[in-house]
Amino acid sequence: MEWINKALNAKEQRSLFRELLPIEKIGKGRVRILAPDNPGNILIDFSSNDYLAFSEHPALLDSSKNLLHQFGTGTCASRLMSGDLSFHHHLESKVASLVGQEGALLFGSGYLANVGVITALVGKGDIIFCDRNNHASIYDGCLLSGARLIRFRHNDANDLEKKMRKERARFRHALIIVESIYSMDGDRCPLIDIIELKHRFDSFLMVDEAHALGLYGHNGGGLIEEEGVNSKVDAVVGTFGKALGSYGAFVAAPIITIKFILNRARPFIYSTALPPAVIGASLGALSLLAEHPYYRKELMENIALFKSTLTSQGIKQQLGSSQIVPIIIGESQRALNIASSLQGHGLFVKAVRPPTVQPGTSRLRLSITRHHSSSMLVRAAKVLAETIAHE
Ligand SMILES: *Cc1c(COP(=O)(O)O)cnc(C)c1O
Repeated sequence: MEWINKALNAKEQRSLFRELLPIEKIGKGRVRILAPDNPGNILIDFSSNDYLAFSEHPALLDSSKNLLHQFGTGTCASRLMSGDLSFHHHLESKVASLVGQEGALLFGSGYLANVGVITALVGKGDIIFCDRNNHASIYDGCLLSGARLIRFRHNDANDLEKKMRKERARFRHALIIVESIYSMDGDRCPLIDIIELKHRFDSFLMVDEAHALGLYGHNGGGLIEEEGVNSKVDAVVGTFGKALGSYGAFVAAPIITIKFILNRARPFIYSTALPPAVIGASLGALSLLAEHPYYRKELMENIALFKSTLTSQGIKQQLGSSQIVPIIIGESQRALNIASSLQGHGLFVKAVRPPTVQPGTSRLRLSITRHHSSSMLVRAAKVLAETIAHE
């Protein structure tokens, strides 16, 4: 136990120790921290990915309850055994059409989808070109695949080109992996430039739309839809657990790729199928998305308001164009201190530290959701700017 103790102490000293803090969700994007020394004041949640406020929407609750009551709590087997039910196929076909692909395959979560898809597509003798800021689940898939892993500078197509020119020819298959909206930076991938390189260097392109699905594109089909490049991307990964307010994930691709992944992806083959209540919520989310396009517009207006208020309050950083607003602080301890002061002012904001982000770039990561009213956002922006100036 001695070495475990030592390792934990070292983490704590560098302000990198992580612990769970249970909260109580009290609806409408508000939370209460349940701690013995906490008076339990109500905080506005700025750390949730419930961008469209779908997780509490009656349409999702009803659709989830319907499948739950019809089909029970669990599927009790993997899809390739007796867990393959018609509602899985229904959801796959709906989500494939949302992201403009021929087919889709469900996974237990986005983490499992990334690990499963990457290990299915490439292996020893192949090469992966991975944006430096890609999500941990993408890195885990890369490492597990056994393919050669080359990281290129974040959102830098020139750096990618340089590395592809140097390395591509020595390997069999090449896979480029990017996110469309980066989870901790909130910025956009230069998809058009990456697609040009994918063609030039005969590579496969996989795009993780975890933070774009439901929010971008005419139908909420993600950044790929917004930029009209559906047919130029070889595999799209998306999750139901963020803007769609449910759980689980999928890969969407041409049918032949889906068949290939189904035959090779171990997190798909060896894991129990997603349960009825979860599929019900996801189906409800896709219907809601189609019925209420103005939800996306309202959210975008709120995001613009929040950012312009921050700027007018003296925050000088680039705030990007997405619902994810990173405020780079630098030192982990300072980021923690600011997050803790913000709690005193009724704002639930999380500090994001290494290894989730590069050392020296600890940050507050705020996400704007449809739970936030305009008056809430203006007040929050002011409190945030003041707290950063004084902490
Ligand atoms: C959240 C996230 C995932 C993981 O999705 P889960 O469904 O939460 O497991 C994968 N990729 C990116 C970019 C993410 O932000």
